[in-house]
Amino acid sequence: MAFTLKERQLMGIHGLLPPALLDQDGQVYQVMQNFNRWTNDLDRYIYLMSLQDRNEKLFYRVIADHVETMMPVIYTPTVGLACQKYGMIFRKPRGLYITINDIGHVYDILCNWPIDQVKVIVVTDGERILGLGDLGAYGMGIPVGKLSLYTALAGVLPYACLPITIDVGTNNQSLLDDPLYIGLKQKRERGQVYDDLIEEFMKAVVKRYGENVLVQFEDFGNNNAFRLLERYRDSYCTFNDDIQGTAAVAVAGILASLKITKKKLSENVFVFQGAGEASIGIAKLLVMALMKSGLKQDEAHKQIWMVDSKGLIVKNRPSGGLTAHKEEFAQDHKPIDKLEDVIATVKPTAIIGAAAQHGAFNEKILADMAKFNERPIIFALSNPTSKAECTAEEAYKMTKGKAVFASGSPFKPVTIDGKTFHPGQGNNAYIFPAIGLTSIVCDVRTITEEIFLESAKVLSELVTDEDIAEGRVYPPLPKIREISTTIAIKLAEFSYDKNLAKRHPRPDDMTEFIKSHQYSTDYQTFVPNLYDWPNVKSGFR
Ligand code: NAP
Ligand code: MN
Repeated sequence: MAFTLKERQLMGIHGLLPPALLDQDGQVYQVMQNFNRWTNDLDRYIYLMSLQDRNEKLFYRVIADHVETMMPVIYTPTVGLACQKYGMIFRKPRGLYITINDIGHVYDILCNWPIDQVKVIVVTDGERILGLGDLGAYGMGIPVGKLSLYTALAGVLPYACLPITIDVGTNNQSLLDDPLYIGLKQKRERGQVYDDLIEEFMKAVVKRYGENVLVQFEDFGNNNAFRLLERYRDSYCTFNDDIQGTAAVAVAGILASLKITKKKLSENVFVFQGAGEASIGIAKLLVMALMKSGLKQDEAHKQIWMVDSKGLIVKNRPSGGLTAHKEEFAQDHKPIDKLEDVIATVKPTAIIGAAAQHGAFNEKILADMAKFNERPIIFALSNPTSKAECTAEEAYKMTKGKAVFASGSPFKPVTIDGKTFHPGQGNNAYIFPAIGLTSIVCDVRTITEEIFLESAKVLSELVTDEDIAEGRVYPPLPKIREISTTIAIKLAEFSYDKNLAKRHPRPDDMTEFIKSHQYSTDYQTFVPNLYDWPNVKSGFR
């Protein structure tokens, strides 16, 4: 209904549409009327997905105009619920499915994807979807959701994005018993066959889309996530968002928090609840940041304490079984089982939760943190909301308003005794769309750790004095699109400075260059540019 009278006549569709013209603004209004009519977010998710199928530009325009309202629906927490019910809410396929039975034919499957200009792939095997565990092929909601943020937040062209699920089965019995399950009904394949499939996949992707196609690994189980990152990080254009993207966003929050706590980075002591992809990723990037601030490596390690499902990670732990990643952070200390005892002993300045253990930051822990610190840093990063270590309200209440708080899933502002606190959303969405856009348009072939540290620094610098005054360590969500573009521009400069960008020549005006590659949500006109020929004898008149 946004077609003008001229367009309707030229295209021969006049009369097929109601007579009124409803421009895009009017359509956004109409969508919002419908959106608000639903009484729950799962229905809103279904509605938005069908809008994405029906009118892509309008879908992205709605998200752009209402980013704070839309993010919790198309992304965490609602996307988690959508994944759990993916079979039931399934309307129309989106993305590509490659199964363990397709070994030897992965390239052929990629060739079935109708678009040749794919630049970024988000791939999952569904083993660790958010903090919800193994959701098998139902995990497809995550690559779909992440890629819609590439477009909505950084302006990556939608058709350049390809969501992929690698289905090797699921160990989630309730899915195997679910009559609506959309994936292979078998237990997870592991070992050599699994590795062969991933190897074939990586090679096939490059063969089909070129060596600069970006492959983002998302929500793989812990062991595979680390192994595959090590295997491919130097030879492919790839990163793991759960390890590296999380690291960048968390370190950005910590750097920004220094403006509130008035401490140097090196004066901080960190306790992590969880020693998985997120925590190890953050801890490693923190070590890099601490070393840049002047500490020696072993000094940096001494300031990072980690707790996993077996308690404090210490050298020669009786329960044994430390992976090399955990070993790096093992402290010379006697074992401590409970998180609250670790915190009482270590007296950290910051606690970071990423173990998907709801309520892990209990009253005692939060009160202790306020006792030890003027302004304790409390990051409850586990997703979705149901897995958060504590709520924003708990964090502010139990610390009497002292907490510098951020969470992975959004919380609304909290008012206590007339004072309003603004929790930050420590979410990768501030980082990965910008990294993606830069690497695609500047042709960055290796996503180095320096790129993540730089993006953390840039993001922390974009937190304004007003944000800090409100207690925020991340820019407010309504600014996230602007922020993503700014990060992309700065990362582009950085990538050329560090010789990581292979697109030559280096653009003179990077802002203009990056912006010229961003998707526009405006409708294109269907009226061709008409012109007359000059009055020539044998020509048209
Ligand atoms: P992961 O690799 O599976 O790691 C989970 C970690 O939690 C493991 O180290 C595990 O210990 C530990 N753990 C489990 N139960 C525990 C307990 N009772 N006490 C202490 N530690 C316990 O998962 P991940 O990728 O790190 O993700 C974890 C959470 O972080 C998820 O909820 C995810 O959604 C969230 N996350 C958030 C963001 C964000 O943007 N905010 C980004 C990434 C991830 P073991 O090693 O002993 O098994
Ligand atoms: Mn993830």
